[in-house]
Amino acid sequence: MPNEWSQLQVKLPQLLEESRVYASRGKVAEYIPELALAPSGALGIAIMNMKGDLLTAGDCRLSFTMQSISKIFTLMLALMDLGEEAVFTKVGKEPTGDDFNSMLKLELVEPGIPFNPLINAGAIAVTSLLRGATPADRFGRVLDFFHMLTGDDSLQVNEAVYQSEKRTAHRNRSLAYFLKENEVLDEQTDVEEVLDVYFRHCAIEVNCRHLASLARILANQGADPATGRQLIPRRYVQITKTFMISCGMYNASGEFAIQAGLPAKSGVSGGILTFVPGRYGIGVVGPALNSKGNSTAGVHLLEQLSRTFDWSIF
Ligand code: GLU
Repeated sequence: MPNEWSQLQVKLPQLLEESRVYASRGKVAEYIPELALAPSGALGIAIMNMKGDLLTAGDCRLSFTMQSISKIFTLMLALMDLGEEAVFTKVGKEPTGDDFNSMLKLELVEPGIPFNPLINAGAIAVTSLLRGATPADRFGRVLDFFHMLTGDDSLQVNEAVYQSEKRTAHRNRSLAYFLKENEVLDEQTDVEEVLDVYFRHCAIEVNCRHLASLARILANQGADPATGRQLIPRRYVQITKTFMISCGMYNASGEFAIQAGLPAKSGVSGGILTFVPGRYGIGVVGPALNSKGNSTAGVHLLEQLSRTFDWSIF
């Protein structure tokens, strides 16, 4: 009986090609103009086991920006900086049922704090909490965190994507000013400075392998599987995993939990970070998105893999 890793080795290329056709049902994000340049038919995956062995298939070398995937890491960094109590006075713990960039509930619900840290308003609020004397220090700490977790000091911001979002982020700007009005961003906080750090962390450029190695740490409860060193406190990984299940795939989080049953976070660049607890870190990219904002082909591939190998945690 071959073990799962060798079965994966055999089946992954075939499952990937079967899923690739779903890319034609999606559309590359255009509201950040630079993202529209991504190859819409691409699909890539990297899977890393706890020993650090890597399996890849398809367009796994494609570079893309993290976008919303970065939000789970800024959340963990803010928790490490300030602790649970302080973070959750500024942001809630519930899914919204609204779009990721919606303003709706900020005005409807008291107190007017964002529903959760994975919608844009929540992630902007979390970004405002990060420690650092200047915006450059704060972003530097986010980048250092990614360097430390991936072991790759060459990770950098994609300048063109960063500039493109900064130029066109009218909705995020309104959200942030609304948060300032509601005192979620405090008196000393400069809205444009917070947004700048937010745009930069969304524009950090990665490939599937980076996502797989980040996810592998979450799969191992925050400890580096190679050394056993606790890189992120277990409690904060637990909180983050819960958000990944309830809100990580936008308004299709329930659907993904039923179909794939894995904690995941996707971004509008078409990336998905997910993991099988205790076993694999997984990074996927497929820039063509469905109407909920998730990679059409990427979601299909993960659902197929989970079903084939019985990965659902539920
Ligand atoms: N930078 C993007 C934005 O704020 C991230 C959105 C996403 O990936 O969900 O619109």
